[in-house]
Formats: sequence, structure tokens, C-alpha cells
Amino acid sequence: MTRGICILGATGSIGQNTLDVVARHPDEFRVVALTGSTRVEEMLALCLRHHPEVAVMVDAGAAVALREALAAHGHSRVRVESGEEALVAASTMSGVDEVMAAIVGAAGLLPTLAAVRAGRRVYLANKECLVMAGRLFMEEVQRHKVTLLPIDSEHNAIFQCLGDGQGIRRIILTASGGPFRQWPMDRLADVTPEQACAHPNWVMGRKISVDSATMMNKGLEVIEAHWLFSLTPDRIRVLVHPQSIIHSMVEYLDGSVLAQLGNPDMRTPIAHALAWPQRMESGVSSLNLVQGPALQFEDPDFGRFPCLGLAFRALEQGAGAPAVLNAANEVSVQAFLEGRIPFTGISRVVEETLEYCQPGAPESLEAVLAIDGEARRTATDRIRQAFSS
Ligand code: NAD
Ligand code: MG
Repeated sequence: MTRGICILGATGSIGQNTLDVVARHPDEFRVVALTGSTRVEEMLALCLRHHPEVAVMVDAGAAVALREALAAHGHSRVRVESGEEALVAASTMSGVDEVMAAIVGAAGLLPTLAAVRAGRRVYLANKECLVMAGRLFMEEVQRHKVTLLPIDSEHNAIFQCLGDGQGIRRIILTASGGPFRQWPMDRLADVTPEQACAHPNWVMGRKISVDSATMMNKGLEVIEAHWLFSLTPDRIRVLVHPQSIIHSMVEYLDGSVLAQLGNPDMRTPIAHALAWPQRMESGVSSLNLVQGPALQFEDPDFGRFPCLGLAFRALEQGAGAPAVLNAANEVSVQAFLEGRIPFTGISRVVEETLEYCQPGAPESLEAVLAIDGEARRTATDRIRQAFSS
């Protein structure tokens, strides 16, 4: 029996890495549904190679273009849908047993939550889901007895080192420190989007690349770890490790520290999760510790990376603060990528939005979305007032 898989965000970096692993195991998986947003060429290539039943392009014009392109290639059997409702339909359709949640940002919340509520096995790359709606999301996971497997390399590493979850002193999330770990501080204001997206160790989408450069990515991951592993913030430590060979560690009460190592290639955590509780080939080469770089470690510099401290603060504050943090970050990263604010403006907008918006704990999905919307409007206003020339 093959397992039917839906890949939300199939045209992105995680989506394509997932399809690379899936294609190595044709006896194990059936690609049932793929979703993208606007990139027609990428989706066309994926459809021709993986033959899904359904392909979703959120953008209506892109869906029309994909339908025409598929017809021109004689592949009219792929059903092409568009719109946000089509994402939910794809992640819950019959024939889908498992869902890779790899849409970037808040747009991933609804279809991922729908997959949870439909009881599918869920592979979680979209960390923004848990930052926005951690309590609600994890309650639904429990209610529907969902197997939720972390794809983020750090959380996947911790999951691998956790054993039965007993006797843990703390977890240690490693961070590369991104491209600006050693830049002169006075040059950070002039960083360009291209420089921010040139990560030293990983090839990723643009939003998470900027998040890695500000270290907001690690802050989002601290919040993600809090929800996934039920740990208070004081038991989550961040350690900078520029080589990205150790993907994270668990420290036990007796002083033992278990780490997961491997080449920095997302196909390892993806294959781990897809095969769990077994193991499968991922296409990743063996780690060479003799010829590889020496492993280094240092404490994070909270002065250079204010976003990391803001994320810890939002987690400690609780209630709606993490959802505000996430929304303000998405808006300001987009503004930075479009050249409307400087790199150093990202943390400023997030900080000001957190000060202005102090919502209570959201009790429903609607409440989460309302907090998200309000924080986006506030961040947009801050950008207009502080940065428009
Ligand atoms: P990406 O930008 O390469 O791909 C994003 C995908 O989301 C694309 O398929 C795009 O079509 C889709 N998308 C974008 N906006 C959308 C919208 N409004 N509605 C529906 N679909 C939309 O991003 P990525 O690097 O693959 O990251 C995806 C997620 O995985 C992010 O949450 C990221 O934090 C997480 N993640 C990525 C990596 C990595 O190595 N790339 C590692 C860990 C976690
Ligand atoms: Mg990560």
C-alpha cells in the first residue's frame, strides 16, 4: 500500500526537497496534491514529473496559465484549482494520508490546521503556524490524535535525541548566526536583500533567509520548540554554531548531552520524518568529520540581533504577543525585500508593533486571525510613518 501525500508549498525549497526524497521511494508514496502560489513554470515541471491528481495555484491567473501549459503538454488529467479554499480542499481530500506543511508564513495556518482536524499525519516545516497559534494548534493535534513530525532541522534533531522525554534539563538549539555574524555593526543598516539572502550554509526561500540573517528565525524556533516539546523559555538555550553540522542537542539531568549531526541538507530531516519510526535513504552524502571544518560554538549576541531577544520576550509575555511578533516580522521582512525599509528597520518595526499591540490570549482561530490582521496594520503604519521619504 502506498501512502498518498499532499505537499503544501510544493514549488518552494522545502517542497522541492520533499519531492526529491519522495521520488526516491516510488513504492512507498503517491503524490496526490501539490500546491503553489504564482510560479507556473516550477509547478508545470513538478506536474510533468510527479503526476499529481490535483495542482493548486492560489493565484487565479497562474491557475489558468498552468491549465493551458499542461494541456499543451498533453497532461490535461491533472485537475488545476485556485484560491485559498483550494489549499484546504487539497490538504483534506480523500486519498491524502499525509501532508507536508511547507507554505511560508501565516498563509500556511488554515490548510495545515485543516489537515490536523482531518486527522492526517502532518510534517511541519511552517513554523509560523505554531508561533501564531501554538496553543490552539497543539490542542487540535491532541484532540485528533495526529502524528505531528517536525521538519525544521533543529526540532527534528531534538525529536531524534529525545527518547521517552524523561529527565531533560534543557534543549540547546543551534544557530549558524547567518551572514552578518561578524559584520561591522555600523554597516548593518546598508545590507541589501541579496546579501541578506546569501546564507552561508543553507539554500532557502527568501523570507526564512532574511529571518536567519536577523536571527528572528531562531527566535521563531524557540517559540516553535516551546509548543512542540512543552518546555518553558528558561529551558531553551540558543547556541551559535557557524558550521551547521550539529543541528541541535538535548541535555539531560545527569549531564549527558545528545546531539544529532549531519551535512546541512534538508533532505535528512525530511526523510527522517517521512520514514518515522523507520529510516529511509535521503540522497544525502556521509558526513566527513575528518575533512570537514572544525566545529565552533559561541553565545548569541543579543545586541547585534535584537530580534532574538524580542522573540524570547514575546514568548515570556505569552497571550497574543507571539502572533503579533510573527505578523510584524512578516510585514517588515517583505518591506525590507522590497527596498522600503533598511535591514535594521526590521527589529525596530517589530519592537514598536509589540509595544503598541498587546492583545489577550486568542481562544479561537478567528481571534488569532484578528490579532494577525491588527498587528499587520500597525506594522504597516509604523513603516509608513517612520520610513517613507
Ligand atoms: P519558499 O519561499 O522557498 O517556498 C514557499 C512556498 O509557499 C512556495 O511553494 C510558495 O508558492 C508558497 N506560498 C507562498 N506564499 C503563499 C500564499 N500566500 N499562499 C499559498 N502558498 C504560498 O520557502 P521555504 O524556504 O521552502 O520555506 C517554507 C517553510 O518552511 C517556511 O515556513 C520556513 O520557515 C520553513 N523552513 C524552511 C527551511 C528551508 O531550509 N528552506 C528550513 C526549515 C523550515
Ligand atoms: Mg531551522
